[in-house]
Amino acid sequence: MRMMLALFRQHRWRTSLVIFGLFLSGLAEGIGLSALLPLLNVAIASERQHAGTPPGEFEQRVLDVLTGLGISPTVGALLGVIVAGVAIRSLLLLAVQRQVGYTAAQIGTELRLDLLRAVLRSRWEYFLHQPIGRLTNALATEAQRSSDSFVYGATAVTFLIHALIYGAIAVAISWQATLLSLVAGTLVIGSSHFLVRMTRRAGRRQTQLLGSLMARLTDTLQSVKPLKAMAREHLADQVLAGETVRLNRALQRQVFSSALLNSVQDLLFASFIALGIYLALVVFRVELSTVLVLAIALARAFGSLGKVQKQYQKMTQGESAYWALQEAIAGAAAAAERLDAGRAPTLKARIELADLSFAYDSRPVFAHLDLEIPAGAMTVLIGPSGAGKTTVIDLVIGLVRPQAGSVRIDGTDLAEIDLRAWRGGIGYVPQDTVLLHDSILHNVTLGDPARSAADAERALRAAGIWDFVASLPQGLHTPVGERGGKLSGGQRQRVAIARALVNQPQLLILDEATSALDPASEREICQTLASLKGQLTILAISHDSALVEIADRVYQLDHGQARPLPATLPAASPR
Ligand code: ADP
Ligand code: MG
Repeated sequence: MRMMLALFRQHRWRTSLVIFGLFLSGLAEGIGLSALLPLLNVAIASERQHAGTPPGEFEQRVLDVLTGLGISPTVGALLGVIVAGVAIRSLLLLAVQRQVGYTAAQIGTELRLDLLRAVLRSRWEYFLHQPIGRLTNALATEAQRSSDSFVYGATAVTFLIHALIYGAIAVAISWQATLLSLVAGTLVIGSSHFLVRMTRRAGRRQTQLLGSLMARLTDTLQSVKPLKAMAREHLADQVLAGETVRLNRALQRQVFSSALLNSVQDLLFASFIALGIYLALVVFRVELSTVLVLAIALARAFGSLGKVQKQYQKMTQGESAYWALQEAIAGAAAAAERLDAGRAPTLKARIELADLSFAYDSRPVFAHLDLEIPAGAMTVLIGPSGAGKTTVIDLVIGLVRPQAGSVRIDGTDLAEIDLRAWRGGIGYVPQDTVLLHDSILHNVTLGDPARSAADAERALRAAGIWDFVASLPQGLHTPVGERGGKLSGGQRQRVAIARALVNQPQLLILDEATSALDPASEREICQTLASLKGQLTILAISHDSALVEIADRVYQLDHGQARPLPATLPAASPR
């Protein structure tokens, strides 16, 4: 219920419209039903060829209204009123359902976008701790379940309004019988409420299990090759099977509880309606035509009330997905990075890491580190794996922040610099490039409309891969395959360098961009970098010698310290 209130508040205008439409449609239905009583009496009277019994209080009022509207109470006219009522109701319901559907779709879309934006704007450390499968699941399944849940909730409101209108008609005919039925209805709804609670619990379980299952699944699928190579698929199977079976049990419980609710309700309602008819006919000695209409009104009211509970039950299945999504959005939003604030960066002199200490979750990587990256030159960091080379890059990019000391850009602390502007001037080539399943052009520009094919060509030339691209039949528009699988490692890496260069960055960062390559490809990339030297600042990481030979400055990272090494060759002379 809290979910519906939250969503109503968010979509106030749309939901008010829905409720108003529902009310009108209920009213139209009520008018049709009200005309039934005079209809029956007129029909019975003409059948028996006499004036019939004098109309009851409710019937008289209906007749008054009809006369006021200039409708004479003949069988034809009354049937017309009934059909018109049903037609108006159906049209209004159609409009309302369309509106509910649109709102639900919008809710799903908004939830997805909110989560996506919040996650993409969150700090790097936060993002690192998010299992990708869980995010995919939130975007796909949980958003869908939330929007379905809204539809069920809105349908429950529809039936509630109809139940109230039928109830009102029943009260107008015989309030005693209605009161008794109301008590009975409350008993039925109350006694079967445990089934709703059961569904809610199963729904929560489903949300939990789906989240962790998808997290594990994505993880496992990314390492299928070693699993298959060593015939260990069954290990993944065991892990996934356990959760899948538990998920299945939760789904079974959902199905069972809603099926049980269906049959229990129908049985109890039918018994109570039978009791009501018995009381009206035998005990209160009400007239047959009145009892008939009363029975119809009560049956409809009960039916609607029962549907309210059933739809509410379905709503509770997905409600936990909505709250899980809200929690994820709030968590990511709380970890938002502060972008677009601070001073505009310049890089004319140097980047310095000054007396800097950094630890991951209290595991220290650097203590009192000093390191200088001169502007316009090429600096290479070397060191054993785990020495903290990637961490230096993350500090320079501002993805992580030092616990003590500072990263200074031309003397200004990075903490005071507009991070978006700073990163906008960075070209970054990661350690393992995963290309997007798209064309070479798209992989270079990343779909940025401000970058033309000519920009891409210039970047590909600078990365030394233009001749290859131009030789392909589809040229720039050649698809690279899933994860870039149709290109060799060296070609992939150079497309990644072109991607880093396309925005004409002032700082180019390469994280072991050449270490997975064969010596020939590596040499070619070294030549590419050497030709870029002087045009921009380059910070490269490597644990082999090729890059060291063309560097202007080399640091050896070890044990949390940086030791400058003499650059082996004079600057700007490629080997
Ligand atoms: P390198 O790039 O030199 O191989 P890294 O900078 O990636 O080394 O890592 C430095 C140290 O920090 C390693 O001991 C690594 O285990 C640890 N580390 C790296 N990233 C994280 C992280 N996200 N959370 C916790 N520890 C990390
Ligand atoms: Mg690394």
